[in-house]
Amino acid sequence: MSWELASIALLCFCVLLMYLPGYAVELSSNYHGLQINSFYGAGEQLGEQFEQQRRQMVKYQLRDRGLKDERVLAAMSKVPRHQFVDSSWRDLAYSDRPLPIGHNQTISQPYIVAYMTEAAEISSEAKVLEIGTGCGYQAAILGEIAKEVYSIEIIPQLAERARRTLSQLGYENIEVKTGDGYQGWAEHAPYDAIIVTAAPEEIPEPLIEQLAINGKMVIPVGTWYQDIIVLTKTENRIVEEKTIPVRFVPMRRKSFL
Ligand code: SAH
Repeated sequence: MSWELASIALLCFCVLLMYLPGYAVELSSNYHGLQINSFYGAGEQLGEQFEQQRRQMVKYQLRDRGLKDERVLAAMSKVPRHQFVDSSWRDLAYSDRPLPIGHNQTISQPYIVAYMTEAAEISSEAKVLEIGTGCGYQAAILGEIAKEVYSIEIIPQLAERARRTLSQLGYENIEVKTGDGYQGWAEHAPYDAIIVTAAPEEIPEPLIEQLAINGKMVIPVGTWYQDIIVLTKTENRIVEEKTIPVRFVPMRRKSFL
């Protein structure tokens, strides 16, 4: 009997040993956090952490993968991506992946945002149209680079939230409207660049019409398999270049809502 009790006690001890190191690390990291916050104040400390994460994101996810446009890289270093995602996802805001933004939609991976912006070759005088505002992050990046940004979102709650975030961050050159982006936004056309962040099966004709001569459209096209197409409109022809494979949410049509 007593050797049975002894072996159960030994087993319990081993299990405890297995879990103890993880527990200890967790405890000490919490303690560390508390200690720092009480010295510097939680907000300031967090701001610095996010700034550092942004610098690392730009180096490892963007520069090291070949992105070069300094204006795009500066915008990616500046825009506080963590303020566009829900607080429960904030710690992952600068990680190398898309994140949920509610209503079954996602904010694109940082690399894809920067890649599409670089491919659109946007000047500081440009007027840009974005289809698929989502949380407004891509619009903010465009707002840092271009003169005027118009963005369309089909889900009213997302459009409203993006409007609020962008205005809290002080962007005055970005206008967000609720509607079906397939039709574009004729009122402000022509656009020097159009960036589409939801995938249609084919490039929408109204968007080609609303693109300026020598303008560029960057758009994911396809269903299950999609590629980013960079379309250039010249005086007498349309040139389409298929670039990287991607996975975006499908472009919805008003009639399917
Ligand atoms: N650019 C966004 C992410 C886009 S996710 C960001 O930075 O957060 C794609 C978005 O496109 C979703 O919010 C989705 O609701 C929207 N969308 C899908 N179909 C659309 C359409 N026809 N017109 C406008 N927006 C559309």
